[in-house]
Amino acid sequence: MMLSCKEATELASRSLDRKLPWPQRLSLRLHLLICHRCRHYINHLFFMQRIAAKIEQHIEKGQTVLPPQARQKIGARLQQQNHSS
Ligand SMILES: [Zn+2]
Repeated sequence: MMLSCKEATELASRSLDRKLPWPQRLSLRLHLLICHRCRHYINHLFFMQRIAAKIEQHIEKGQTVLPPQARQKIGARLQQQNHSS
C-alpha cells in the first residue's frame, strides 16, 4: 500500500508520541524513499523533537545534579528569611 503525503506526515507525527506498528513504519519509510518533500518535513519534525528531548534531559540533570550541600545552604537561607520576616 502507498501512503499519501498527508498520511505519511500524520504517521510521522504520531510516531513521535509512541512507536508505530512496523507495517506502518515500513510504509512510512517507503514513502520517504520516494518523496523528498515529506523527507524534508519529517527530518525537521524529528530534529525539533530531539532538541525538545535534550532540553528536558538538561532540566532533569539540573535537578538531580544539585549537591546535598547546596541544597542545605538553600534550605538554611530560606529559614533565615522566614525568621527575619
Ligand atoms: Zn510525501
